[in-house]
Amino acid sequence: MSISTFDPDLSHALNQELKREQSGLEMIPSENFVSEEVLEALGSIGTNKYSEGYPGARYYSGCEWVDVIENLARDRAKQLFGVTHANVQPASGCAANIAAMFALLNPGDTLMGMNLFYGGHMTHGLPVNFSGRYYKSIQYTSTKEGYLDFEQMMSLALEHKPKLIIVGATAYPRLIDWQKAREVADAVGAFLMADIAHIAGLIISGDHPSPVGIVDVITTTTHKTLRGPRGAMILCNGNPSTPLKNVDVTKENIPTLVDRAIIPGIQGGPHNHQTAAIAVALKEALQPDFKEYGHQIVKNAKALAAELMARGFDLVTGGTDNHLMVVDLTNKNVSGKHAAVALDRAGITVNKNTVPFEPRSPFDPSGIRLGTPALTTRGMKEEDMKQIAAWIDEVITHHSDDQKLESIKEQVKNMTDRFPLYQMLKY
Ligand SMILES: *Cc1c(COP(=O)(O)O)cnc(C)c1O
Repeated sequence: MSISTFDPDLSHALNQELKREQSGLEMIPSENFVSEEVLEALGSIGTNKYSEGYPGARYYSGCEWVDVIENLARDRAKQLFGVTHANVQPASGCAANIAAMFALLNPGDTLMGMNLFYGGHMTHGLPVNFSGRYYKSIQYTSTKEGYLDFEQMMSLALEHKPKLIIVGATAYPRLIDWQKAREVADAVGAFLMADIAHIAGLIISGDHPSPVGIVDVITTTTHKTLRGPRGAMILCNGNPSTPLKNVDVTKENIPTLVDRAIIPGIQGGPHNHQTAAIAVALKEALQPDFKEYGHQIVKNAKALAAELMARGFDLVTGGTDNHLMVVDLTNKNVSGKHAAVALDRAGITVNKNTVPFEPRSPFDPSGIRLGTPALTTRGMKEEDMKQIAAWIDEVITHHSDDQKLESIKEQVKNMTDRFPLYQMLKY
């Protein structure tokens, strides 16, 4: 029986979501469209099996094929990023970060990360997150212009002596200088972690410098620019030691500490269907055309940014080097929340976002965040970005004109018809 026969309510919701994905402009920079091969692996029988542990060292019997699946994912991750150890089991980016902190810190230790409202992630020490509650959290911000402020980072590090420094962001439009972060970490003997959740795909394509060889541990999601299933990985150099030996918290022991942090530290059975889908996505990312994909994401973001700026939009840092941009709407007399709602009505999905030194509330901030990874997957190019910037401009100018928004939505639909997505799918 199919879902459509057995569960028409769910089938309806899935088909409506499919239609929404097909007929709108998906511009949330953390989202993407996976291939049908990734979907196939994600819907596979891998979900049935318990396989606590790692390939060759499982708690349950019957893991011989799951071992093959997980080794495919691990080996491809190692090859792609040029590391000697990859843990592909974290269920999500947050879980990967929890595990990395669990591996390196004791409760009450000091960590330092970027403030969420300046582009960081809540797991980098936000007070209401586990990372701000179980550890002493020091938060760095940005320069007035919105750039990473390594001078401030250095002075905060010297003052508070964090044991772990986290660098990585969810809303940062520029390249990250890992070496400068290393200098800060070395000045106080801290572990350095790179959270490359947003930029993993751009690191693979060479459009963003890699932190490999500079930082001690790397966490990443697999579902953003990497274009895999929802999931995450922890990457590092070195090799894990035998399962039962006790290890100290040192750089050499990071692979062992990370593996043990995932299980028995914070997770149980690996999601083998998810691991299978990660393996497929990593194989896709190993193909030469993935590099083209990464280059095009950045070209599209730069084209969109240039056209928006030409239309009087104020971009944080005055542009972008990567896949995203943060638009400060203060001079357009509309809040980020209101703008995001109006854009969604016009078929353009973005998210509201704080700007550096946000004068408003995070729940109704001054900005919106736009990204090009999903549009680029659909095959859109620079000239399409120009058209999209024109629509965004129109929506922001006429944000309360329902007829206008309706008419743009129709135009958006016509454009997306030229970039087919999941044509064969139906639930
Ligand atoms: C998205 C993101 C995460 C969290 O990933 P989830 O899969 O949503 O848990 C962590 N760190 C950064 C920098 C991110 O952008």
